[in-house]
Amino acid sequence: MWNIYIAPECDKPMIRYVIKTLVHHIGVKPLDQQLSVYIGMHPNSSEKRICLVFDRVFLNDETNNNTLVYDYELLEKIGDSLTLRYEQGAALDKNGRVRYASLDPSIQKVLSEQFVDFFVDKVRHELIRLLKAESILFDDSTPWMEKTIVLSHDVDDLYGKSWIRYAFWLTKGMKRFSSEIKRIKWWMNQKSDPYFSPIEMCEIEGRHGFKSSFYFMAKSSYLSFDEGRRYNVKSKKVRLLISAVEKLGWEVGFHPSRKTFDNFRNLKKEYKRLSQSRADITGVRRHYLKGQYPQVWRDLEKLQIKYDTSVGWPDRFGARSGTCRPFKAFDFIEDKELNIYEMPLTFMDGTLQYENAESYLSDYYDIENRLLASGVMTFLWHTDRLCNERGSAPWRTIYEAILNHWSKKGYRIISTRELINEYMEHERRFKIEFKYERD
Ligand SMILES: [Zn+2]
Repeated sequence: MWNIYIAPECDKPMIRYVIKTLVHHIGVKPLDQQLSVYIGMHPNSSEKRICLVFDRVFLNDETNNNTLVYDYELLEKIGDSLTLRYEQGAALDKNGRVRYASLDPSIQKVLSEQFVDFFVDKVRHELIRLLKAESILFDDSTPWMEKTIVLSHDVDDLYGKSWIRYAFWLTKGMKRFSSEIKRIKWWMNQKSDPYFSPIEMCEIEGRHGFKSSFYFMAKSSYLSFDEGRRYNVKSKKVRLLISAVEKLGWEVGFHPSRKTFDNFRNLKKEYKRLSQSRADITGVRRHYLKGQYPQVWRDLEKLQIKYDTSVGWPDRFGARSGTCRPFKAFDFIEDKELNIYEMPLTFMDGTLQYENAESYLSDYYDIENRLLASGVMTFLWHTDRLCNERGSAPWRTIYEAILNHWSKKGYRIISTRELINEYMEHERRFKIEFKYERD
């Protein structure tokens, strides 16, 4: 049991939310004792139990063997990150997205690493040291104790073999004519369509013992004004694909188009269309990572979606909300917790500059090392990148090398839904009670 003593002037929904999230992330549960947190105040000098303190006032002699003291301001800073309140007023790019590059340099500095996770791990480390010194029994498991990669795929495209594409390439001018002809020949020589790849992806991942999530778009035609060339989710071929992916035991999720942002009716329409495939949809990744928070969460909550996994920057890897770990969403405008979870998107194939396969991989391994310091990261690889298509990077070679690397490292590779379910289970194990008075 965790008891939270909170001074009336600090008792705000957002602070309660932050401290609950911190307790869940710290993940330490004493088995037969109580742990206390004091917010905006200090415990009595007679307090002998182990406690955490978040206060604005620091006393010189306060640090004793049982008390860990931190600055109250940290709770507000963490709240601003988890809720993305810090993005208010940030310039948006032409697609309506917040880019890392357009953030204020002081914010960039804070978010250049997953500062929430590093703070949580520092507290966790100190707390475990105190509990051990006092011989107090505790459980300290978390869903990211074993290094875990949440593997996901956005299904933007399923048909690469298309006369419309070939015709378009030929309009690019005489200079490129002969290289475009070679490109068209390459495509025509492919027996099956390299973009129609989800089943093969499942097979390759399955050989390693991995699982992943596929986020499908829900357009009703192959061509559309707003998205250009996509696929018709109502076609028999795509429906069969979706049910085959699910039958194999991989997750099917929803990838709302650009048209759904700022338009709940369109979002609902697309969601319904995808639901007609009878897939069990619990999660969403927004196409282009388009949308602003908390509006994205509000809309998805209305559809009873369990989680979103779109909090990532389009132009950089890393923790846009200060954490690589899953968390419950909070609406900072309405000042209330939402009934939806977020699994931040921390790495996407296209954000890393490609020069050659070797440098791409070595840059990726470096990023992976930094992100996995949190124990968990989300990895996005688009389904149209399971081929070494002519005129493009050898995406398939790179992807297979990364899968082999994970196997060698012994990482756990799972779908987003699996991690969210584990996190919800983890949360349920904690009992947290808020109190004003000191007992
Ligand atoms: Zn997409």
